[in-house]
Amino acid sequence: MISLRNRLALTYALFICASVLVVGVIINRFAEKLFANFVTENINTESREIADTITKQYDPWARSFDVASVEAMGMYFVHQGYIISVEDINGEIVWDARACDMQQCAMVINEISGRMENEFGVGGSFQTNRFRLAYRDMGIGYLNIDTYGPFFYSKTESAFLSSLNRFLLIAGGVFIILSILLSVFLAAEISRPVLRAAEAARRIAGGELSVRVPDGYETREIQELSRSVNDLATALENGERWQKRLTSNVAHELRTPLTCLQGNMEAMIDGVWEPSVERLSSCYEEIVRLNRLVEDLNRLSILEQKNLILHRTEFDLVKLINTAAERFRAAALEKGIAITVTNTGVVLVDGDYDRLTQVFINLISNAVKYTDRGSVTVTIVETQEYCEIRVADTGIGMEKEELPHVFERFYRSDKSRSRNTGGAGIGLTIVRTIVDAHGGRVGAESEAGKGSVFTVLLPVKTRGETVNQYP
Ligand code: ADP
Repeated sequence: MISLRNRLALTYALFICASVLVVGVIINRFAEKLFANFVTENINTESREIADTITKQYDPWARSFDVASVEAMGMYFVHQGYIISVEDINGEIVWDARACDMQQCAMVINEISGRMENEFGVGGSFQTNRFRLAYRDMGIGYLNIDTYGPFFYSKTESAFLSSLNRFLLIAGGVFIILSILLSVFLAAEISRPVLRAAEAARRIAGGELSVRVPDGYETREIQELSRSVNDLATALENGERWQKRLTSNVAHELRTPLTCLQGNMEAMIDGVWEPSVERLSSCYEEIVRLNRLVEDLNRLSILEQKNLILHRTEFDLVKLINTAAERFRAAALEKGIAITVTNTGVVLVDGDYDRLTQVFINLISNAVKYTDRGSVTVTIVETQEYCEIRVADTGIGMEKEELPHVFERFYRSDKSRSRNTGGAGIGLTIVRTIVDAHGGRVGAESEAGKGSVFTVLLPVKTRGETVNQYP
């Protein structure tokens, strides 16, 4: 297959050659036409001058021409391509070039017609122009001038025209060679960034995801191409990084319960431990943990499907939150903390009831989980466009640098890991995914040792069944 560089070079070269050819032919034709007009005009002027010269050879006293002078002039004119004959007023031949020197005339005729036909492709024949000669208005005779017509070039003129054609040919040739060199250079210049982008794309496809196309090209299309290849590489790099982190996180989350189960089982099989109810319950708890992790992962993968359908209905959000809070009231009571939902009115929202229930279960569950004393307060405030729900607790809180990561998959703070609260770090990712699907936003504020506030903003007046836009 032909390369981009060669194709561009070939196209430029062909275009330039064709242009030079067309312009050259036009200039040549135009110059020849102009020159032919000029020469024709010249022949007419010279013919009149010849007539004047012959008239001057008339002797009015002798009432005849000076034949010797006419002959001298006539032979000179023959050499210039003008074959003349002079007659007196009665039509009697005074002097005739052909009669005087037939051989010379034939030579001139052959030479001119040969040059015009062979060199310039002008086919013609000798034509006669007849002039009446007069002395002081008195007719003294006639002059016949035979010239090659429609026009002819003298030796000097044909040499000039040949030089002009040669010059055009050489200039055209030089121009074509320079243009071909320039085409090759330009084609290489234009194709270089494309080739670089292609090379980068090839290396990226081969797994070198850190490769980037250098920026700084001035052509918009090339810039767009470079940017697209770089964006693609970044996306692939992020994807790969995410995949690696996911794999290592899943492995990490599975390892703890499996190691614990394996140890317990081995001890019981080897007879080191009696299979008591407590030990079997501990194994059972690990299995429950594993099951929860798999369920969470499954739920997340369903939520993150691009074309997830939300089953929207209109319902009272305050009621939904109260129902969700109710689930944790017993556990909270056990820890000595109170759960309060401030709004007692009705806040209607349009959304997926089950999925929004999941959101508040996760948030309230976290608040209870990470709070040892104090309270958990859920505030619901309705504005014109949004409904703002704040789940605040007085628990362990988080460090500032942890906040940007809390919504990432498998993120768990060191504190929460050490507490062995059982979470896998997926709960908040599920929250963000569901809220995003509803066209809302989530945020978190926290202070270590003082507590956290998780805020959910949901649009109030969205209706109908919507396709999840979550990227
Ligand atoms: P987990 O199942 O581990 O709770 P989440 O995704 O729900 O996973 O939360 C991620 C991490 O965010 C938790 O491990 C914890 O470190 C932190 N976190 C979430 N909610 C709170 C909270 N209310 N108070 C303090 N830390 C929290």
